[in-house]
Amino acid sequence: MYDMIIIGSGPAGLTAAIYATRAKLDALVIEENYVSGGQIINTYEVENYPGFNTISGFDLAEKFKSHADSLGAKFVTETVNKVELAGDVKKVYTDDNTYEAKTVIIAGGATHRKLGCPGEEELAGYGVSYCATCDGAFYKGKDVAVMGGGNTAVEDAIFLTRLVNKVYLIHRRNELRADKALQDKLFAADNVEMVWDSVIDRIEGESKVERVITKNVKDGAERTLDVAGVFVAVGIVPISELYKGQVETDAAGYIVAGEDCVTSVPGVFAAGDIRTKGLRQIVTAAADGANAVNSAQAYL
Ligand code: NAP
Repeated sequence: MYDMIIIGSGPAGLTAAIYATRAKLDALVIEENYVSGGQIINTYEVENYPGFNTISGFDLAEKFKSHADSLGAKFVTETVNKVELAGDVKKVYTDDNTYEAKTVIIAGGATHRKLGCPGEEELAGYGVSYCATCDGAFYKGKDVAVMGGGNTAVEDAIFLTRLVNKVYLIHRRNELRADKALQDKLFAADNVEMVWDSVIDRIEGESKVERVITKNVKDGAERTLDVAGVFVAVGIVPISELYKGQVETDAAGYIVAGEDCVTSVPGVFAAGDIRTKGLRQIVTAAADGANAVNSAQAYL
């Protein structure tokens, strides 16, 4: 039986691994992907993690992982498909094994939200993408659209301006949600056109994306944008299905926990993007990893 199982290896899970190992807890990290880091591995540039003026998300994730490795943290790459969190012995089932632990830190993060418009699902992978850094290179010299107004959409748009001919940034309001520093960078690019007050009504194309039809939310006017790619960046949803019914979640599916990461179930802690919180950043996810281990130690 482990002292602690940490589910997920994004910034929260990796920080928890560092703190747990230094606290001499017998901890196991269960990660789904062979590359640790969670969502940040797809971030082209991180400019707000202290200590690094600029670093790629992939490189930062590697640093977190090698830090955890250097302390002797234990990792397995398996998919968790069931958990039993009540009682003193927590059980975590994967496709291959059943693990038991006295505490569990849920750090499984979040994934991208879908638009839900016609053409999105049919053309996913054929011009519809949720990761500009992964797929941007396919659109060199072409026109593309990015949907969203948050940090991810604006970062994606900035990244794409360096590769493609033209970026249409479509946002449902006439003001971006993204940080001001990112907005300044975006507006400095000469190949971005803002499509304000608009949503994507449908995505069309024979076997790959050929155009998107936007709809103005104020006057209903439609506009056709001839683009080869659509990058959807309209926010995130927590990956919390497994825990629903066992741990309290809010209406949006986030696990209810404060800064101490304590959940409704004794011995179970939630860290990073999966928990209710005001600011989802790498630095706040890392902070959660530390707080979750601290709370778990108090429980143990
Ligand atoms: P976000 O901040 O929630 O922004 C989502 C954007 O998509 C918003 O502009 C929203 O519009 C729009 N949107 C939501 N649902 C939509 C829909 N159905 N149709 C059309 N538009 C829709 O999400 P995010 O940009 O993915 O960022 C997620 C979290 O990670 C945030 O906390 C963010 O700060 C953080 N993050 C930080 C950095 C960084 O610090 N460098 C980078 C990436 C992400 P409204 O504005 O009208 O609501």
